[in-house]
Amino acid sequence: MDELLRQRIRGCAVGAAVGDALGMPLEFGPARPADRLVREMQRGRLPAGTFTDDTEMALALAESLLACHPLDPADLARRFAAWYGTHPPDVGNQTRLVLSRVASGEPWAKAVAAVQARNPGSAGNGSVMRCWPVALAYRNDYGGLVAASRLQSEVTHPHAECVAGSAFINSVIFFLLQGASPDFAVSESIARLKHELPPPLVETIEAAPRQHRSGLSNSGWVRHTVQSAVWGLLTTDSFEEAVIQVANLGDDADTAASVAGALAGAAYGLDAIPRPWRDTLTGESAWPPRRTWRAVDLMALADALSALAPDSEETD
Ligand SMILES: [Mg+2]
Repeated sequence: MDELLRQRIRGCAVGAAVGDALGMPLEFGPARPADRLVREMQRGRLPAGTFTDDTEMALALAESLLACHPLDPADLARRFAAWYGTHPPDVGNQTRLVLSRVASGEPWAKAVAAVQARNPGSAGNGSVMRCWPVALAYRNDYGGLVAASRLQSEVTHPHAECVAGSAFINSVIFFLLQGASPDFAVSESIARLKHELPPPLVETIEAAPRQHRSGLSNSGWVRHTVQSAVWGLLTTDSFEEAVIQVANLGDDADTAASVAGALAGAAYGLDAIPRPWRDTLTGESAWPPRRTWRAVDLMALADALSALAPDSEETD
């Protein structure tokens, strides 16, 4: 495989986890003053450099993809329920409502339909935050990438903006892995997905690069997370600056910075991720077989996911 492509694939996985860990101590806080941005891994509720639920769920999705390709939603739901069974302290509301039902034996489709029927407007960022493994596993198959991105969302987050938002983020990664510029990757993704992206989501994405940081809400709403991540990608010119800017928006800082990290890692590659961040990065998948993850493990995972997409196939 081309070394630049390998760098981008690894950068996407490590970048997502690094963004999550950088944002961890800033989660639920106010936006940091522009002249006092946090620029290094800091301790929060977890030790400095530790990733959170966003990356844990992405790891569960990655493990499901490695076991079942194409993506099997029943296998994925079972793995998410096993993660939920480890009592993660930071599980999102929608995810908790769905997975608690799955964990007690309800089929995933019935569980998620029942939860969404009670709150049809629920459109959190819980599926966009974990979607990047699909982009690596389907890096040579655009149609498969879009379908699997949507399906992994539907398991817990069936709202149209969550489903389309996941397809959009992975589409941007798809073009970045091919070496496209961030501007092209975003505009091409909007063009390719124009029949599935809800108009308000398109408007939010298109407005992103014109926003001042004070205009970004960075809440747990999928629309805000996608906008912050695109803003970070398009208004900076390095991995480091993209994730620093997004993490320092506060509120759902870890999630937005994780999505920004997946994008910026795919754009700039592994070596662009500051070495001290990579060296500090750690986290756990607490479901069996319980294991600790460091940057080198995420690199190996990225390699394994990308090997699901043979190099001999041409892009889409
Ligand atoms: Mg989190």
